[in-house]
Amino acid sequence: MAKKVLKFGGTSVGTIDRIQHVARIIEKEHLAGNNVVAIVSAMVGKTNELIKLSNEISDTFNKRELDVLLSSGEQVTSALLAGALIKLNINAKSLLNWQIPILTEGEHSNARIINMNVEKINNYLNEKGVVIIPGFQGISKRAEITTIGRGGSDATAVAVAKILNADTCEIYTDVDGVYSTDPNKIPVAKKIDKISYDEMLELSSLGAKVMQSSAVQTAMMYDIPLEVKSTFTERKGTKIFNQENIDYTKSVTGVAYSKDDAKITLIGVEDKPGVAANIFEPLSKAQINVDMVIQNISSDQKTTDVTFTVKRDDVARTKEILREKGEINYKDIIHNDKVAKVSIVGAGMVSTPGITYKMFRGLSDEGINILAISTSEIKLSVIIDEDNTLNAIKKLHTIFDLD
Ligand code: ADP
Ligand code: ASP
Ligand code: MG
Repeated sequence: MAKKVLKFGGTSVGTIDRIQHVARIIEKEHLAGNNVVAIVSAMVGKTNELIKLSNEISDTFNKRELDVLLSSGEQVTSALLAGALIKLNINAKSLLNWQIPILTEGEHSNARIINMNVEKINNYLNEKGVVIIPGFQGISKRAEITTIGRGGSDATAVAVAKILNADTCEIYTDVDGVYSTDPNKIPVAKKIDKISYDEMLELSSLGAKVMQSSAVQTAMMYDIPLEVKSTFTERKGTKIFNQENIDYTKSVTGVAYSKDDAKITLIGVEDKPGVAANIFEPLSKAQINVDMVIQNISSDQKTTDVTFTVKRDDVARTKEILREKGEINYKDIIHNDKVAKVSIVGAGMVSTPGITYKMFRGLSDEGINILAISTSEIKLSVIIDEDNTLNAIKKLHTIFDLD
């Protein structure tokens, strides 16, 4: 008998038929004698639909009310799933975050789970019941409803697994595991049987939305092994766990991409000490995250161009701050948000020379221009024109033997 946390994503609970199918997966686990806690997402598309409704009221819809609104999607699926289990003659109960409670810290729409009371859950499990918990949300110390970031049901599952000391944390989704790249975009993508926390964290931070990055981070911090598997097939999934147990045969494990970034260039910036600090200090104070930075060599020894990337949502604010910050002199400020970030990730990269060259040569063979570069021990990212995204992923997938 094991204590299992099972998380079902939006597509898995997207229709009544699918909710009934999920109920049967849980029934099987329950009848096998396991204690099951299920975490559910909202029906696929629901959260976006709710955001759209709020935008019809205002582009700057009140953040507190937005959390109240968005948390409702998961409440609906929790009750429907509990009802479906009850129909199968299983004791089941939804417990909303404030009833448990699951405590969060931090601002609305971006809170973090810090603790949870386990009493009600454990009592109900001891009575041979199944507990259903809405993912993606919590309650603050001031009893306000909070949400924990898009895709946050993954983070709820990991936090609940940790606090309940569960034996397994299984992420049921619409693909049968983590692939070398998005299998819905590149059909030759290969399923990965085992992947380390570090690699998964890089892949998800760089755009592979199959796991939310903060969920992976928590799993890594507390060493909670995860399994990503399909709701719709019984094929073996992907195990995410500590690197020590993985044998690396390939230098690159996966290719990820995202279209969240934008490139900003300050043209004709004075070339003297302290300029870079003057540019990035006000941005950091405004909590704007700068990812890649390139400074051109100045041809006239007086001025230079500084290019950097930020999240697309931050472009307007970044330009506004730089315009208003009188300490920086420049001729012009331009931006390009039709760019994509394409990254290769692999723990085996550390011990394989020539990866950088191979990536750049591959992209140049496809006629793809690299606009910015950033590297770390186990990843290499480039910014390219958005139109080249698919070509770049295909090429990298092939040259690093992932097809
Ligand atoms: P859920 O609603 O179950 O949380 P998501 O839509 O958040 O599911 O994540 C699953 C999706 O992630 C898949 O449908 C797939 O298109 C996408 N994805 C992106 N990169 C990868 C990858 N490397 N491996 C598997 N799926 C990926
Ligand atoms: N429903 C939320 C979202 O769409 C949370 C989740 O699905 O994990 O972002
Ligand atoms: Mg998800």
